[in-house]
Amino acid sequence: METTVQDKEALAIHGGEPVREETLAYGGQTIEDDDIHAVAETLRADLLTTGPKVDAFEEAFADFVGTKEAVAVSNGTAALHAAMHAIDIGPGDEVIVPTITFAATANSVTFEGGTPVFADVDPDTLLIDPESVEDKVGPDTKAIVGVDYMGQPCQYDTLRDIAEAHDLVLLDDACHATGGSYKGRPVGSLADLNTFSLHPVKNMTTGEGGMITTDDAGWAKKMRRFRNHGITSTHHERAEEGSWYYEIPEAGYNYRLTDFQCALGMSQLQKLPGWVERRREIAARYDEAFRSMESIEPVERRDDATCAYHLYVIRLALDRLKADRKTLFEALQAEGIGVNVHYIPVHLQPHYRENLGTEPGLCPNAEAAYERILTLPVFPRMTESDVEDVIRAVRKVVSTYRR
Ligand SMILES: *Cc1c(COP(=O)(O)O)cnc(C)c1O
Repeated sequence: METTVQDKEALAIHGGEPVREETLAYGGQTIEDDDIHAVAETLRADLLTTGPKVDAFEEAFADFVGTKEAVAVSNGTAALHAAMHAIDIGPGDEVIVPTITFAATANSVTFEGGTPVFADVDPDTLLIDPESVEDKVGPDTKAIVGVDYMGQPCQYDTLRDIAEAHDLVLLDDACHATGGSYKGRPVGSLADLNTFSLHPVKNMTTGEGGMITTDDAGWAKKMRRFRNHGITSTHHERAEEGSWYYEIPEAGYNYRLTDFQCALGMSQLQKLPGWVERRREIAARYDEAFRSMESIEPVERRDDATCAYHLYVIRLALDRLKADRKTLFEALQAEGIGVNVHYIPVHLQPHYRENLGTEPGLCPNAEAAYERILTLPVFPRMTESDVEDVIRAVRKVVSTYRR
């Protein structure tokens, strides 16, 4: 039953009083005094970039996820780009990516001249569907990228089997899932190469930032060159040898992360488990509240994974509502709830339609899901009353539009 006294309240888009005066964003960083102190201290050090904090942050991050190597870069997109470079993606190579993701997952394949091949998603979890992956594997396929949508790890055991059967590299675009786990294994150790974003809206931040984790020392070395113009030695190594000489066997980029950002990252990393716990509490409260709202179907979570909840996504049961997603989006925005939509299926973007000829119908589950998804706010700084505001606004809006 969704009938409450709030049924009688006029929606803010119809001139009623909004649930909140000031809009609650869908996500945001937590910066505390110790974070600020860590950055300030590093700003007083000799090296603002390519200094000791970079190595220290990489080591701490690798320890946290349980890999031999972690490579810090300037953002999550650079992390994906470096990973594609590490595995030699080039013209003629295909990389399978889910179409429900941030465009950078697919774009990074094209940066190296490769072709993204879009796989459909499971309709309940919106994670890459292993059956669709099997369908899309061909003679030119080099790699599969799982995207841990919402913060829920993909079915890596199944993806691993497919990768091994076809001799493919398995990647995890783990940008949503920092701090999550799958069958007791930490995110970051689930695929051959695992990429993270440290953007403020993600689970921990360095302002802008990215990380790649792997057990492969060769790939790590290649990515450290790639982030530094393709130069074979670091300035420390040259100083030790008393030499100016270096070589550039292949052109790279400047994808470095600064020392003060790495200092922030180390400070944030210690607090990540507590923040993920808080995200999970908020999600549990939403789950409980939405169980009694028939027109709201939260994206499903599997029992074998611990979702890190970068996002909390609901699916609207449109057959139970008199309005479409756009109307509900606008109604919730008017109530002061900063809802969002993650994501427009990437194969529908003009860039891919024009260059790869991708069309509606290619990934039917993703296209159907896209029509009815909404992202609700979830981030550690939310108070109990913020959480209740979101629930109240959702209840108010769906009761008004209930069929
Ligand atoms: C955020 C994000 C990226 C890109 O990260 P940036 O740090 O913004 O470059 C890539 N993939 C996914 C799934 C993301 O959510």
